[in-house]
Amino acid sequence: MYYNSINNKLNIKNFINIFLKNIPKDKSLYFPFIIKKFNKFYINNLKKLNYLNFSFNIINKFINCISENIIYHLLKNSYNKFYNKNIINFYNLENNSYLLNLNNGPTLTFKDIALQPLGNFLNYISKIINKKIVIFCATSGDTGSSAINSFKNYENIKLIIFHPFNMISNIQRKQMTTIIRNNIYNISILGNFDFTQHIIKNIFENIKKYKNYLFISVNSINWFRIILQTVYYCYSSLKLYTNKLINYYIPSGNFGNATSAFIAKKLGFPIGKIIVCNNDNNYLDNFFKKSLLINKKLKSTISPAIDISIPSNFKRIYNKKKIKKNDINFYNKFFYSDKILNKTIINSIEYFFNIYKKVFDPHTITSLTSFFKNRNIHNNKIKLIVSTSYPIKFFYSIKKIIPNIKINLNIKNIFLLKEKYKIFNQNFKIIINYIKKIL
Ligand SMILES: *Cc1c(COP(=O)(O)O)cnc(C)c1O
Repeated sequence: MYYNSINNKLNIKNFINIFLKNIPKDKSLYFPFIIKKFNKFYINNLKKLNYLNFSFNIINKFINCISENIIYHLLKNSYNKFYNKNIINFYNLENNSYLLNLNNGPTLTFKDIALQPLGNFLNYISKIINKKIVIFCATSGDTGSSAINSFKNYENIKLIIFHPFNMISNIQRKQMTTIIRNNIYNISILGNFDFTQHIIKNIFENIKKYKNYLFISVNSINWFRIILQTVYYCYSSLKLYTNKLINYYIPSGNFGNATSAFIAKKLGFPIGKIIVCNNDNNYLDNFFKKSLLINKKLKSTISPAIDISIPSNFKRIYNKKKIKKNDINFYNKFFYSDKILNKTIINSIEYFFNIYKKVFDPHTITSLTSFFKNRNIHNNKIKLIVSTSYPIKFFYSIKKIIPNIKINLNIKNIFLLKEKYKIFNQNFKIIINYIKKIL
């Protein structure tokens, strides 16, 4: 498959080019030149495959320069670390409605599904091209720990991770800062997530070449992450399809996960509507429901991983400054949206605990609440509520709502470990000097 910059259809690249360079010169993003529908026969034959073989068949279509054998083995090594050997699983909520649990990876988040293979592929490529790789990552919670887990054992890769000071959960921070290795650097910034993303952009603009390093960002704009996520939409929709299309409710921040669902639908998988669920930071909801593009000030909520003011993947779907009316009609064939306010999320954690006797994390609550609000409509569809994290990571916020909560997942020893991280003000110069020092 070939790719082009979304600002310039003539800037055509193959997979390796875009794998090693996230952003084209024009500072937009890459997207497939064309996404062809698979034929029905091909899709039907995928139905009997397990997750690993299924993912190989999808991923292989998007890569044009790594041998099939190697792709298969890199995927296999990535997915054999998962707690559930089926990789993803369903939890029946009610008739025709399921929670789609994507959090069986080593750091208990859906991000592992893409970041585990990403680490393996980058390590492989780094050896082939004989260059060390420096990975930059801004995290609003789960990307950082997932990336650390994926990259920590590769000597030819350095990982530099920025998180907003005091704006991720205690446990999320400890999952990152207690893993002490020579190739891992955690940096806490006195500012919000948008600012940490801004720093990375600034670093990319300021340190273009340094020693023999290749600089890569593994944030959700990373194209390989998008296609690895596309796999579970293809897989789950096919698994549940008999004659009703599948609707997905997706907690959305940077819009990578929902973009993946969009691509799965484009490939011809039996997907109905993609319902994008925002919290108070509702850029996407304003677009899909009201045809508005509004840059609002970021608001901190109980669901920090989706506290994002302008979703960075959005321009992959819509790359215009002014909205045309017909555009929205077109996008509403794929997407609906919803906004679940912070106080509703807080109330819903207890509400759903009483209904299902199960605690959900504050991100999954957005998709679950949206489903529940509208559960008497779209009855001709199967509904999949996407779960993006486990409640254990948000133990302290949840404990304030349900005081005698017990969550039995064993990450207690994380509290005994020593943490290591640096804290910086919003000062580019000092941060860049520090980076140069550690490289
Ligand atoms: C990253 C993340 C999201 C948002 O996913 P996007 O692809 O950025 O929309 C939602 N929930 C959790 C728990 C996350 O970590």
